[in-house]
Amino acid sequence: MELNEPISVVKNIGETRCKQLNKMGVETVNDLIEYFPRDYEDKSLFVNISDVVKREVNTFKAKVSFNPEAHRVKGMVIVRARLSDATGSIDGVWFNQPYIKNSLVLGKEYVFSGKVTEKYNRIQVESPEFEIFNPNSLNNGRIVPVYTLPARLSQKVIRTVIRDALIEVKDKIDEFLPESIIKNMGLCSRLYAIKNIHFPQNDDAFFKARYRLVAEELLLLQMRLLQLKGDVGEKTSTVKIGNYDVSGIRNQLKFDLTNAQKKVLGEIFNDFSSGYVMNRLVQGDVGCGKTAVAMIAAYLIINNGYQAVMMAPTDVLANQHYESFKAVFEPLGISCQLLTSGLKKKEKNMAYENIENGTAQMIIGTHALIQEKVVYNNLGLVITDEQHRFGVRQREMLAQKGEEPHVLVMTATPIPRTLALILYGDLDISTINELPPGRQKVDTFAVNHTYDNRLYAFIEKEVAKGRQCYIICPMIEENEKLDLRSVLKFTEELKNDRLPDLRVECMHGKLKNNEKQDIMDRFSSGEIDVLVSTTVIEVGVNVPNATLMIIENAERFGLSALHQLRGRVGRGGEKSYCVLVTDSKTKVAKERMSIMCKSNDGFVISEKDLHLRGPGDFFGTRQHGLPEMKIANLYKDINILKDVQSVAIDLYKSDE
Ligand code: ADP
Ligand code: MG
Repeated sequence: MELNEPISVVKNIGETRCKQLNKMGVETVNDLIEYFPRDYEDKSLFVNISDVVKREVNTFKAKVSFNPEAHRVKGMVIVRARLSDATGSIDGVWFNQPYIKNSLVLGKEYVFSGKVTEKYNRIQVESPEFEIFNPNSLNNGRIVPVYTLPARLSQKVIRTVIRDALIEVKDKIDEFLPESIIKNMGLCSRLYAIKNIHFPQNDDAFFKARYRLVAEELLLLQMRLLQLKGDVGEKTSTVKIGNYDVSGIRNQLKFDLTNAQKKVLGEIFNDFSSGYVMNRLVQGDVGCGKTAVAMIAAYLIINNGYQAVMMAPTDVLANQHYESFKAVFEPLGISCQLLTSGLKKKEKNMAYENIENGTAQMIIGTHALIQEKVVYNNLGLVITDEQHRFGVRQREMLAQKGEEPHVLVMTATPIPRTLALILYGDLDISTINELPPGRQKVDTFAVNHTYDNRLYAFIEKEVAKGRQCYIICPMIEENEKLDLRSVLKFTEELKNDRLPDLRVECMHGKLKNNEKQDIMDRFSSGEIDVLVSTTVIEVGVNVPNATLMIIENAERFGLSALHQLRGRVGRGGEKSYCVLVTDSKTKVAKERMSIMCKSNDGFVISEKDLHLRGPGDFFGTRQHGLPEMKIANLYKDINILKDVQSVAIDLYKSDE
């Protein structure tokens, strides 16, 4: 048997099981042996019946000491069997599994495993699994693996097929890590690790196995990241900066910088003067004023004779940045150029020309900025806004458009520092840990749909005060099955019935770019009272007069998305509110709502987010083109991650 053969070559995998396993992404023998358990049950010790622990799962050896009986109670078939060992007896009870009666044989010894309960002063074991005692069993008498499986595939079956596959391919599981790494890190062999991750001989073997597999996975992840990022280590900068005077733009801005903004700018200027290429991540909660920091950095670069470029994830955001940069830069005699896919052909060609001949000094746009056609004249600084929306590769592609320009990356999704090392391993990190003065906490409430009328009244009240409101819906079209309020239908309802006196408009991803822009412009200028929208407005939109954010079907959003959405209000001096509307009663939904109501702190929220859904999702590894994690948990395995970091760099360098 070969590792790359389809799983159908394994004993006991017929057509049906093959299909079930394929659905779980298990296609080859290798996939099968790398289908790691999600959990383990310690069934290594059998208890005496006299020692069973109530309300827990117990595993014991026992003989069937009376013939099993089946009763019918309230339409349910109950099979009851007396199980005994030398120390005592207990009843085994099975519900609606009449065939059990005939599969247990009087006088035979089995191993039973199930939850022990007490009913009417009699202890019983409920629906225990059982099998004839066998010292080599995969299902008891050992630490037993538990897999994530579809409904029709049993744990017993998957254990057996994995064991059988392992026996067949044990000589094919090759070591692929260099011996020096194995030795230095004290890793066990790959074969030992794979065997013991499925069927650990004991605790120690399990920990060794897991460490090895996690280290291996994180090592590959880091290697891939290094590859994506290109060179490691500091590069000498060719961008010459002699003039550090930014008083021009400081006077042009309508506000004083916060201390946090000043501190971060200091760090950036320090990089500029270091002689090395800057690679800096600026993280800061929504509304902390990252744009102003980017503006001043860009101003400095432009004033020293270079171009600066800023890439945003959406057309709407790019347009907004373009407008705010223009307002500040043009009075200072700096020309700004927009480049998005939404531009007309003629405008685009103009843009290409201006960028290439250097007429354009500050360039702002979307992914269109990294297309081949775009040739920069003299790029000194590359800024990516809302980095969590881009892959590592896109950032690199933009940077490669110039000759080693400085790189500034901005994100509103704060990540714990240790985790930031993974995605931004080569970046220095600055944090803006302060909001501009006068900002008030956004009061947040979670309600269900019985509050609808009160909500409409609330909207009317805010609008009467001259404020504006966002209503976010998760979908565009009505979807009966999911019972979600769609943007389109909901907007009609609001316009016609609920809020007939207000100016309600609708915004979603299916609109053309110029239509979106038109709606955003009208919302910005106050011509729209209520903007019903999908999450297209999630990132970065800045309309300080909006004071009410209503999020429909809030349970459909993750914590970080909710926090981002809430960040659209509370941007001016007025008291702002966020209402999360949900009928969901699930534990996760409730917990999310409660965290949102309690905290306004992006750092706290992103930590909780990590706990609730795990970092796999958090980073969107697929979006970044990174391998998927089969065993490592980026949150819990942070120490192993540190262990492999330097190893990965050495390995990468020796590979070059
Ligand atoms: P984010 O960090 O979320 O990108 P923005 O850069 O969009 O935040 O800034 C949010 C708002 O705060 C903008 O209206 C901006 O003009 C304003 N702002 C930024 N810095 C300051 C400051 N130091 N004082 C007052 N307002 C500020
Ligand atoms: Mg922003």
